[in-house]
Amino acid sequence: MCGIVGYVGKQDAVPLLIDGLKRLEYRGYDSAGIAIATPGRVAIQKSVGRLSALEVRLAEHPVQGRPGIGHTRWATHGAPTETNAHPHTDDSGTLAVVHNGIIENYQELRTALEAKGHHFKSQTDTEVIPHLIAQELKDGAPSLEEALRRSLRKARGAYA
Ligand code: GLU
Repeated sequence: MCGIVGYVGKQDAVPLLIDGLKRLEYRGYDSAGIAIATPGRVAIQKSVGRLSALEVRLAEHPVQGRPGIGHTRWATHGAPTETNAHPHTDDSGTLAVVHNGIIENYQELRTALEAKGHHFKSQTDTEVIPHLIAQELKDGAPSLEEALRRSLRKARGAYA
């Protein structure tokens, strides 16, 4: 069972996300990651294994910013590797997604997105979501919220 935390507010998101993920450790996980909106880019740090490994990574490569999202993964699609750890992004690296559950029709969605020029980095079902959102924005969705809504209409499964 994965854990998801998000933070919107005035403080630096990183320590709050790590604290939130620690509170969810009891659920079990194989890898962890965070995405932080820093000025000019979305910074992502991931690691396999315990959250302490992610903390070491963050100590070596400090990230600051807000808002942010964090995830502890329990792999269902793709091995527990750093590449497969969440967050996952679209090709531009500006849309970052964490996800709990399974997108059952991810293979057909992935094939259709690849035919439209999207490049996938992981073996996860999750990665179709940021690419779907990016495609909906390209196809004229008037807002991020609407692009997400349209994307999730295409996804089958049980997920958050
Ligand atoms: N199905 C997704 C994956 O394998 C999410 C797993 C989870 O809920 O942690 O990455």
